Amino acid sequence: MPPQTLRRSMIALLAGQAMDARDLSDALGLTEKEVYEHLAHVKRSLAASGATLHVTPSRCLLCGYVFAHRRRLTRPGRCPQCRRSKLQGPTFHVAGPVDDLLT
Ligand SMILES: [Zn+2]
Repeated sequence: MPPQTLRRSMIALLAGQAMDARDLSDALGLTEKEVYEHLAHVKRSLAASGATLHVTPSRCLLCGYVFAHRRRLTRPGRCPQCRRSKLQGPTFHVAGPVDDLLT
């Protein structure tokens, strides 16, 4: 699939529901690494048309630590509080005008 088509599908999915990189990789047939690369572009396209990529931060499923100040979109390696690595990756949701980006 051409990158433009992929990114359009990604925006359409995220405008309907919040998803993490694993959900997106399943839905679009990409690796998580590819998902994150496309997301960086998607974030810029959205900003240019007045929409927003909302990011719900990663959190630790073992101690509840929230990665509130992390700026990168990717899943962190391990929890700074309990030092373990059972983490929910960040989830993404698109809000705002996306019609221009989907046509
Ligand atoms: Zn933890």
